[in-house]
Amino acid sequence: MSSNSRVSAGNRLIDSLPSGDRRRVMRACERTSLAVPAVLCGLHERIRHVYFPVSGLISLIMTIHGPASLEVGLIGNEGMFGMPLALGIEVSGARAVVQGAGTALRMEAALFGRVLSLSPALQREMHRYVFVAMSQLAQTVACTRFHVVEARLARWLLMTHDRAGGDHFHITQAWLAYMLGVRRVGVTTAASALQARGLIQYRRGDIEVLDRRGLMSAACRCYQADRDTYERTMGYAQGE
Ligand SMILES: [Zn+2]
Repeated sequence: MSSNSRVSAGNRLIDSLPSGDRRRVMRACERTSLAVPAVLCGLHERIRHVYFPVSGLISLIMTIHGPASLEVGLIGNEGMFGMPLALGIEVSGARAVVQGAGTALRMEAALFGRVLSLSPALQREMHRYVFVAMSQLAQTVACTRFHVVEARLARWLLMTHDRAGGDHFHITQAWLAYMLGVRRVGVTTAASALQARGLIQYRRGDIEVLDRRGLMSAACRCYQADRDTYERTMGYAQGE
């Protein structure tokens, strides 16, 4: 039992639980691959599984009409997909798409409901995480309205860097434009500017973060605000 209590899930929400609750959650999960660009759940579709990423990234995307879309949430190993279930809602309020390949611990929705009902610690964790996600969404709304594309791109790159588990990641220009809700030419200009400052290397969708500190200076304050909210609310840092 003592060695078991130290087993890490690789997901910060699960790992922050007391050992008994953590083991119960991990026993109810199966490990699964996250493959780009799998759609884990459509908008207003019934949530079949919750996902706790260990590596890889899940984007929450809101589509307004046609191709007009915006990323409204980014989930890595600091979070989970399936929040509405913790509120008693069975459908997703956004489309959940795998944006970075990796692995996740997955739990069937009905089982998650049972595990949640038996664990006040998990309930508390979920309530806190719902608040974090709401705050992140509010931050993104203000950011999208008031901050320039270059600063928003830097913010997004840092958020991805935190969750990607390395300095390299792949994302096409079209997908970046999609995430930020801007035209491709806007992404090109912003990425070129960040590259000219020696902060990133960007070629054919391959991104390398060269200067994380410089990228933090280039990003709007929304990046740090999100991290502060996470740490203040959850009681631990989200990690890099
Ligand atoms: Zn911003």
